[in-house]
Amino acid sequence: MVNEPHDPQAAPEPLERVRQLLNSWSTPGNAREPTDEFDAHVATLDVKNPAEAAQLRQLRDDLRAVVERSGDVETTLNAWLDRLEVRPTIEDGALSFRHRAGLPGDILAVVLGAIQSGSWERLKACPDCQWVFFDHSRNGSKRWCQMTAGGPEGRSCGSIAKVKRYRDRHKQSQG
Ligand SMILES: [Zn+2]
Repeated sequence: MVNEPHDPQAAPEPLERVRQLLNSWSTPGNAREPTDEFDAHVATLDVKNPAEAAQLRQLRDDLRAVVERSGDVETTLNAWLDRLEVRPTIEDGALSFRHRAGLPGDILAVVLGAIQSGSWERLKACPDCQWVFFDHSRNGSKRWCQMTAGGPEGRSCGSIAKVKRYRDRHKQSQG
């Protein structure tokens, strides 16, 4: 898994933990073959047993759907709130979330905190390769990840759409 120290697409902690989990599924390189590195990722985490790992994998897949804005996002999140029994609590005058659901509960609590602070909206899946990145742009308008052609992973997300947009603009200025 890619986790460069100065990765410009990394999210602020603790949201970065969620992004790392989501990107344990990816479509690397030009071939864009779906690659699931969940087992390798989970080996680096403090997961108690196989049942917790299986639940974490389901949560990852559902959160991927949420970040990709596919399906009924609110129903998905509310179902997990019930399932993991995450409850709000007040801590030092601020809203916090408690649960007894191990790592999946920790991950969901981080998601809730990000929804509350507004940073969740900036966690996005590239519509081209589905890589999950954090949008640090000032107006939050980024759509594609920063995978570029020529690098070791060699690809250029959004380039077809960008070229089309350029041509359309050019045509307009000619006409
Ligand atoms: Zn991409």
